[in-house]
Amino acid sequence: MGTRGRAIVKNADHIIELLNKAFADEWLAYYQYWIGAKVVEGPMKDALITELVEHANDELRHGDMIAERILQLKGTPLLKPEEWYKKTNCGYDTPDDPYVMKIIEQNIQGEQCAIDVYNKLLKETQDTDPVTNDMVLQILTDEVDHEEDLQNFQDDLKAMLERMK
Ligand code: FE
Ligand code: FE
Ligand code: MG
Repeated sequence: MGTRGRAIVKNADHIIELLNKAFADEWLAYYQYWIGAKVVEGPMKDALITELVEHANDELRHGDMIAERILQLKGTPLLKPEEWYKKTNCGYDTPDDPYVMKIIEQNIQGEQCAIDVYNKLLKETQDTDPVTNDMVLQILTDEVDHEEDLQNFQDDLKAMLERMK
């Protein structure tokens, strides 16, 4: 990024730190969706796999967007996977139980954490870094969409299981 582009950012080192934490979240979210789509079992599994794979791809794209912004700000994106665990806000929820309902619940929790993280980052960058602010809003919009998709899926699955009783 050019000198003026960086000069308008207040507190860039702090923003870079927060972006790296979100970067760690995105990789862990990506993997949680990706491996969840591989192991998931139970009713409506195929439809859920389609959704999980879509979300995995979105999380990877978010990671890419964040890495590009960190570099623009002259920071370094986390270089080692072991740092993801140290920096993450939302952690990683291991899909030990592959049942559809359990996988959905774990991913909803992850999305709710992501929404809180990006909502905070949106406020944090409001007056200090308009370019990051714009990117964070795009990502937040996706995370809100992800939560809604999973909760709709959960409602449909519950209704179906209820009728089968
Ligand atoms: Fe994401
Ligand atoms: Fe998401
Ligand atoms: Mg979706």
